[in-house]
Amino acid sequence: MTDPDPHSLPPYPLSPGAAAAETELREEVRRFVREHGLARRYVELDVQPSFPKAEWKALAQLGWLGPRAPRSAGGKGLSLAQEAALMEELAYGGGSVFAKLVLQPEFCSPLLHGSPDLVGRWYTPMLRGELLVGNQITEPNAGSDAAALSTRAELQGEEYVLTGTKSEIAFAADAQAAIVYATVDPSRGSHGITAFLVPQDLRGIRTELVDDLGERWMRRGTVHYDQVRVPRSLRIGEEGRGFQYLMEELTPERCLLGLLYLAVARASWEESRTYVRDRIAFGRPIGSFQGVSFPLVEDLARIEGARLFGWSVLAQLAGGERMDAGSALVKWLGNETALTALDHAMQVHGGSGYSRRWPHEQRWRDVRSGTTAHGTSEILRVVAARELLQLPSGKKDRPHGSS
Ligand SMILES: Cc1cc2nc3c(=O)[nH]c(=O)nc-3n(C[C@H](O)[C@H](O)[C@H](O)COP(=O)(O)OP(=O)(O)OC[C@H]3O[C@@H](n4cnc5c(N)ncnc54)[C@H](O)[C@@H]3O)c2cc1C
Repeated sequence: MTDPDPHSLPPYPLSPGAAAAETELREEVRRFVREHGLARRYVELDVQPSFPKAEWKALAQLGWLGPRAPRSAGGKGLSLAQEAALMEELAYGGGSVFAKLVLQPEFCSPLLHGSPDLVGRWYTPMLRGELLVGNQITEPNAGSDAAALSTRAELQGEEYVLTGTKSEIAFAADAQAAIVYATVDPSRGSHGITAFLVPQDLRGIRTELVDDLGERWMRRGTVHYDQVRVPRSLRIGEEGRGFQYLMEELTPERCLLGLLYLAVARASWEESRTYVRDRIAFGRPIGSFQGVSFPLVEDLARIEGARLFGWSVLAQLAGGERMDAGSALVKWLGNETALTALDHAMQVHGGSGYSRRWPHEQRWRDVRSGTTAHGTSEILRVVAARELLQLPSGKKDRPHGSS
């Protein structure tokens, strides 16, 4: 296997109209990628799945975990564009792992609706890399239709009693706490859903792990709640507002994820370019055969086209527009485009492409999670079609897809 160290790769191109602060940040991230050997760590974390604690702490020291978090809560208060630049560079140099570490606290931003005590005790330490907080929405019978979740939270005195099962949960093995979405009243549909910060060592919680195709370092699992007593003080915000809090962050996340997948694919594209110039068949570099070169040039056009679309949606989001449909489509297009490009990268590498000798297959397996997590490819298009075609929803709780 050749050294996957990103030293040999050209720097990822700048986003359109990048500001000086963003350019500097990109250079800083590239240094970080090199100094921490993230390309090598990426491969190791797939072979021996574990939570990358050292890199997580190092990212935290630079204020890069949840970089958009407000300064008042201990965050760095970076812009959406800066966060996108940070994630693109990490994804380009170190696959999806480290960029997803950056994003994880953003998924937990509903915590900011909690009391100052909750924010100080759980949110700020999460930004400092002192504790990992997961998100638990999906259930065996409620995934895309997240509003149909049935985990119950019954108020008894000063405690809520939680009973139910959460499935497909990332960081099930490693999170010290999770934001758990449960209903205080199933008859209220999404308006009964309430968010709780639940320490994962409470009595009555049992976890089983699953063996995944990709993103193996996330160590996903099923989490069972059997009469778990959660102090009332750990309720996040108001009763019945959990679903709303969840949806608020989903839109920017989807846009960032689309850009993340594209950056991962671009890394494989650069490596493929080098390979097809060096590899000889029938006395010529294989890149001189159109069967090899056409898919590669088409992929570059698609990657950069999808990326431009992503940055344009990002700019509108930063300008205060809602962009639910746009973000859904950026994630869908970014994911589809990246999967196709990664498949081509494997193909041009011939027999070696179908092995761990190159990181392409791992990148493909990891990016493949994006067809399901944070809204499936189908639900993303449901969201986009409903808004863009102005369709009546036909249902009280409209599908958004969960985490
Ligand atoms: C790597 C990974 C990490 C994850 N991490 C978490 C996590 O940390 N926390 C968490 O809560 N969840 C997590 N999930 C779960 C994820 O959010 C759900 O799997 C997802 O929302 C889909 O739900 P489901 O699996 O129940 O599939 P279903 O909702 O049962 O869907 C099955 C299929 O039917 C399709 N479908 C459903 N409804 C429609 C419709 N209206 N129109 C068209 N097609 C439809 C779907 O697109 C899908 O292809 C994770 C998943 C993965 C893969």
